[in-house]
Amino acid sequence: YWQDCLSTLEKKISPQNFSTWIRPIRLKDITGNLVHLVVPNRFIRDWINENYQEIIEDTISQLINDKCRIKFEISATNTIPENEITEKDSIVKAIKKTDITSAETEKKNSGLYLNDKYTFEDFVPGSSNQFAYAAAMAVANNPATTYNPLFIYGGVGLGKTHIINAIGNEIINKNNNLKVCYYSSEKFMNELINCLRYAKMDEFRQKFRSMDVLLIDDVQFIAGKERTQEEFFHTFNALYESHKQIVVTSDKFPKDIPGLEERLRSRFEWGLIADIQPPDIETKQAILKMKADQNGIYLPEDVTLFLANSISSNVRELEGYLIRIGAYASLTSTPINLNMAKEILKNILIEKNKEISIEEIQKNVAAYFSIKVSDLKSAKRLKALVIPRQIAMYISRQLTSCSYPEIGDKFGGKDHSTIIHAIKKIERQLEEDYQLKITVENLKNSLTN
Ligand code: ADP
Ligand code: MG
Repeated sequence: YWQDCLSTLEKKISPQNFSTWIRPIRLKDITGNLVHLVVPNRFIRDWINENYQEIIEDTISQLINDKCRIKFEISATNTIPENEITEKDSIVKAIKKTDITSAETEKKNSGLYLNDKYTFEDFVPGSSNQFAYAAAMAVANNPATTYNPLFIYGGVGLGKTHIINAIGNEIINKNNNLKVCYYSSEKFMNELINCLRYAKMDEFRQKFRSMDVLLIDDVQFIAGKERTQEEFFHTFNALYESHKQIVVTSDKFPKDIPGLEERLRSRFEWGLIADIQPPDIETKQAILKMKADQNGIYLPEDVTLFLANSISSNVRELEGYLIRIGAYASLTSTPINLNMAKEILKNILIEKNKEISIEEIQKNVAAYFSIKVSDLKSAKRLKALVIPRQIAMYISRQLTSCSYPEIGDKFGGKDHSTIIHAIKKIERQLEEDYQLKITVENLKNSLTN
């Protein structure tokens, strides 16, 4: 069973990445819908969590025809026999036995969906994020009395999710009676859709309106979604009027979010708007040092400087490189040095440049079917357009690391559920439609070579 999973993954991931990250994984056991995997060290675990968790979960879920989640354990000796569990049937049985929710119990008073990993202590302040950092601290120290709402915006990987969670964690630390919840705007929307479908709107409203602190991450994703914006608007008003704290993040300044309703935009501007800019070299060095310390990685000064200079701005990337270098050093039992760092960075950059863009996919798919790229992005329901469009979405998901909402954005601002639906449909058809399979295979080949 794990072998099946590995061979499927091998097809989805580049050979180098597969042997570095995936092959060392061992299956330990399965409890409920939770699949326990064992990895040799925490570097590998962190890297896999960041980059491959979803693809592994998807692969296992497909194999066993049921939703699963994976959890990693670290075993230095790595002696778990591969065939400890081999029968697909027994796994399916084990999964069916326990229900989905039992594996996940919410801790009390730790805030709803807050990530306790992100705290102010772990956040390195610098000139690029000073303003947002100070505003966030002020809000955390005195919720609903300083800046309300607090609106934080900045580019990808610059620490918005970290800061907004840190606010929540700090508030709970100071006053454990406050009800704090963290929602990505996607999650907010999904829950809303579910509640609408099952006529549970009262519950939905009650839940959000009973919060003392509402943290909404990546609000740009609700732009253009009428019903979600409407509901969020009412939630906002209810909380604001009863003097509850609201914090919102976005990748853009409110005025620059396309499709954001005017009334929401104006409310976002009621409070304080703080930006996070890309970190300068000194901040990057400080971040690297802190992350290296946290992960028990010894990072020589020259390597720190080299990384801070080579990696443009995205802190998430910076962290990724560090983890990768740490993993390499630990796997080969050699201390980190400048040459090693250069070599690894070079390889990563080659891989990264190979990453295919959605635009490229759209161009290829449109050319293949002799249609226009604009038709792929449109909402026209002609069959001659719908199928190529779904194929393009499917390939985008397979060949890029874009999330569903990101793919939706690139296809003329479609809803992430539309993308999921399209991809599922192609997946199903691929199983029975040989011609389609060839088409998709051809397209993928021409894109990857
Ligand atoms: P965003 O939400 O803006 O895309 P994240 O908050 O997810 O970015 O940050 C990406 C990663 O970078 C996280 O692991 C976060 O801890 C880290 N990070 C970003 N900025 C800082 C900082 N100033 N100090 C420490 N870690 C940071
Ligand atoms: Mg984020």
